[in-house]
Amino acid sequence: MIKTKSQGILTVISGPSGCGKDTIVKKVLEDTKDIWLCVSCTTRPPRGKEENGKDYFFLSTEEFEEKIKNDDFLEYAKYAGNYYGTPKSEIQKHLDKGENVILVIDIQGALNIKEMLPDTLFIFILPPTMRELKKRLEGRHTETHEKVIERFKKAYEEINEVTKYNYVVINDKVENAALKVKSILIAEHSRVDRIEQVFLNNPEEEMHEILLEDEKRFDNEKQEIK
Ligand code: ADP
Ligand code: 5GP
Repeated sequence: MIKTKSQGILTVISGPSGCGKDTIVKKVLEDTKDIWLCVSCTTRPPRGKEENGKDYFFLSTEEFEEKIKNDDFLEYAKYAGNYYGTPKSEIQKHLDKGENVILVIDIQGALNIKEMLPDTLFIFILPPTMRELKKRLEGRHTETHEKVIERFKKAYEEINEVTKYNYVVINDKVENAALKVKSILIAEHSRVDRIEQVFLNNPEEEMHEILLEDEKRFDNEKQEIK
């Protein structure tokens, strides 16, 4: 009866550092097919068990700036003294295959994408409390105390931008938050503005035909009984 867009949905996920974006996205990717996570480039050094090409493409500042010159990024920004950028080469290919593409990027990057591609879906992740955010940032043991404080202070500014997003998800428990993100994606695929074509005959005609078929079947059954 209807044909909806077969294209995937470009989804931007942001939220203060340490609120649990990567943890939630990992869970969503484990549970869902047809989602592709775009791996960003950064000039910050790897932390913990991060792997090149899996968590980020770790580049030198010169390599990153060369990519800026070559127009390789959909967007890029500086966050806490380092470059971060979304490589654009693969994104369209995955959307065309019907896969949802997830970008986990900061608010400056998200706002740039909103200007360029206003149909993008924007989800903001919040921690349940600021105290819990600080606990998570410290508990990750991946930044120095100064960096933790820098990111924590930045969180206060970032939270003010939440109203520029379409959805907000509180990361109390990872399972709950991941379920909400998956549900948002399912709901977005059912939006009426994704309908491309409606194949409906005149509904009255269609109803008339169905009733006629019923009547015929009823007559046949009566004949058989006689
Ligand atoms: P982000 O990607 O937003 O910077 P992470 O996903 O790295 O945040 O999470 C920061 C820390 O908080 C990690 O140590 C992670 O294990 C922990 N964490 C994430 N979500 C939760 C949660 N719902 N409850 C408790 N700890 C969490
Ligand atoms: P982290 O150093 O904690 O991995 O990331 C710091 C911030 O940079 C986070 O808000 C993260 O979402 C953001 N970020 C990661 N990749 C990109 C990107 O490609 N572009 C932009 N603008 N921000 C990014």
